[in-house]
Amino acid sequence: MDNHKGFMLYNRELPSLRSPRERINDFNTHEKGFGIARTLTQANRCMGCGIPFCSSACPIGNPIPQFNYLVKKEQWLEALKLLHATNNFPEFTGLVCPAPCESSCVLGLIDDSVTIKHLEWEIIQKGFTNGWIHPQVPEQRTGKSVAIIGSGPAGLACAQQLNRAGHKVEVFEKSVQAGGLLRYGIPEYKLPKYIVDRRLSLLEEEGISFHLGCEIGKDKTFTQLQEEFNAVVLAIGSEVPRDLKVEGRNGLGVYYAMDFLSRQHLPGKAQLDVKNKNVVVIGGGDTGSDCIGTALRLGAKSVLNFELRPKPPEERSEENPWPQYKQTYKVSSSMEENFANGGKTLYNTTTKSFILDKNNHCIGIEAMDVEWSSNSREFKEIDGSQKRYDCDLVFLALGYIKPDLSGLLAGNGLAFEANGQCKTDESKMTNLPGVFASGDCRRGQSLIVWAIAEGRDTAAKVDTWLMNQPSLLPECSTEQVAF
Ligand SMILES: Cc1cc2nc3c(=O)[nH]c(=O)nc-3n(C[C@H](O)[C@H](O)[C@H](O)COP(=O)(O)OP(=O)(O)OC[C@H]3O[C@@H](n4cnc5c(N)ncnc54)[C@H](O)[C@@H]3O)c2cc1C
Ligand code: SF4
Repeated sequence: MDNHKGFMLYNRELPSLRSPRERINDFNTHEKGFGIARTLTQANRCMGCGIPFCSSACPIGNPIPQFNYLVKKEQWLEALKLLHATNNFPEFTGLVCPAPCESSCVLGLIDDSVTIKHLEWEIIQKGFTNGWIHPQVPEQRTGKSVAIIGSGPAGLACAQQLNRAGHKVEVFEKSVQAGGLLRYGIPEYKLPKYIVDRRLSLLEEEGISFHLGCEIGKDKTFTQLQEEFNAVVLAIGSEVPRDLKVEGRNGLGVYYAMDFLSRQHLPGKAQLDVKNKNVVVIGGGDTGSDCIGTALRLGAKSVLNFELRPKPPEERSEENPWPQYKQTYKVSSSMEENFANGGKTLYNTTTKSFILDKNNHCIGIEAMDVEWSSNSREFKEIDGSQKRYDCDLVFLALGYIKPDLSGLLAGNGLAFEANGQCKTDESKMTNLPGVFASGDCRRGQSLIVWAIAEGRDTAAKVDTWLMNQPSLLPECSTEQVAF
């Protein structure tokens, strides 16, 4: 059927997951198969809105109603072409995007929104299983060259676009493998690394060169890159983590989240011993969730999660109307696993100090309850609410504040914003001619889909600058959606 009335007949449905207790025994993905018939049913729930708020809410402007329509008609190849026209890497977003599009789906006004993210995943899966995805090697080269520093989603999207425009693109990555947070941050059970490797192989076949284990500022200077290439793009992420400067912070056993998570993907690097330990994860966002799920899989005895903010409401509040991003209570897969294992999330909780033993090892946390003001901007501690929580390990998952430029650009005169992010003009060029910035290092800690948008847009701007004429590469607005 394609009369746009499927939403009256079918409920929203997603692939069922393995049970939380089963999942924590391995790092395999959660989902069981879904099947083509159910996928088509879900595509049939799309109303084909004339004004697709979903597409406006998607940072790369994916043509959602159009590809849903093609899925309904089982025109998978056409759906794939349409999806790839706006999204370089649907296999990443189809798995781990928080799907702001679904918050803005018009059906969400009266019912559960369309399963847009899952349909995106099914389209790209079909593309790979049917062998429809091939390297796109440019027919002509321009003779211009671009160095990209950083191989996260922003650097990779920028590289792919610029290579397709015919420029010679070389990516410099300090880690031994490419992918940025796609590889070293997001756990295997959420984004299997064969998926990252598969895309990297395609990029190499398209003609992009990767220099791995090459830290700019250490193994090669920034000035050398400026001399050797016509343009340089900084896509170095936002790696400086937010700290928690309270008493006992320097105790043994208190780690930043990425010190824990990245080790899972660093062959030869010693893992943190989590087995049978009581773990506290401070921070209730995505990174905190990833620490919970990883700690459980590595055999943690218990995991307690602290979150400073209140528990979000079950339904949209008046201050958060449709089509804004839905700020309601969501149980991530890792939270679900933690609850099944007897763990908890404590909201309105602030950490006052880390309690250390005589060997300087953290053995507990002193915390207090807080109360938020009615505008949710300030909080105050509740007198007498001090509590002690015993633990063996603590992971700080409090977000990331700015790019790590120690060594990279020292003395090169690059200008920064007050918050430490790279400063660019509307063409995404920094104050240094021919040096551009893209992704989390420019916009601050964000999402994969925003990094792809940044990479695409930066590529168009670099191409315009290199060729001194308007680029044929599509621009991509990287302003936050206004609603
Ligand atoms: C634990 C965690 C989980 C996340 N989960 C999700 C999720 O589920 N969904 C989602 O949408 N987003 C998620 N995010 C956010 C998302 O991963 C980032 O917004 C995105 O990866 C940013 O892309 P980027 O290319 O700007 O930077 P990054 O991915 O950080 O890549 C930057 C790259 O630059 C390299 N680099 C830095 N300095 C140098 C140098 N001097 N020389 C050479 N190379 C250098 C780094 O090694 C790195 O590979 C998560 C983030 C974290 C930390
Ligand atoms: S990339 Fe994210 S926001 Fe865009 S359509 Fe896919 S799931 Fe939705």
